[in-house]
Amino acid sequence: MSVLIQIKRHVARLRACEACPDMIRPVVTGQPVESPVMLIGQAPGLREGPMGKPFAWTAGKTMFGWFEHIGLTEEKFRNRVYMAAVCRCFPGKAPKGGDRVPSRDEVERCSRWLSAEMRLLQPRLVLPVGKLAISQLFPEAEQLVDVVGTTRRASFGGVDFDAICLPHPSGASTWHRMEPGKTLLVRALAQIAQHEAWRSLLVSNVDLHGNELAHA
Ligand code: SF4
Repeated sequence: MSVLIQIKRHVARLRACEACPDMIRPVVTGQPVESPVMLIGQAPGLREGPMGKPFAWTAGKTMFGWFEHIGLTEEKFRNRVYMAAVCRCFPGKAPKGGDRVPSRDEVERCSRWLSAEMRLLQPRLVLPVGKLAISQLFPEAEQLVDVVGTTRRASFGGVDFDAICLPHPSGASTWHRMEPGKTLLVRALAQIAQHEAWRSLLVSNVDLHGNELAHA
């Protein structure tokens, strides 16, 4: 069975997951696309479930703007990069405001989906976005400055890959708009732009269904 068919079946099973009683469904997934590049977000917010896609609101607008600078529009990114997350359901609001941080149990439960995706896709480049996602690959990293702006080898689910960490693009975070975050973000994006897996996406002439495109 082809990887594309396997990842389509995986995403269909994931969308039916009801493993976490405190999570608010629907399960939010990206497109079931076969890609050498995987993005790992944190967890969907309030808007993503109803809109049926990850990074559907203001944080997404900022993040897709970053990727457009290095060659992929939002539409192309969604069609060419596999979009995963630490948790795929909205955790709800925290009593003191903001979104609830998923519990350790929820992260562990959802990590089984992520491990399966790693094994299926064998990504060559992984982009963890935000502290929760970064901590899955680099639990020892205490601050964003420790990891953003460098390309590192990492492993998850028994699969090894290059990882380039990105800050969370949320409007609530000022990290990427102030120094040293501003410079480190520019450096991280330049490293993504130069990575061979990313560059292969820019010349891809295959859509998410595996069909040849007339023009990439
Ligand atoms: S957060 Fe993950 S493991 Fe929990 S219900 Fe949603 S998809 Fe399933």
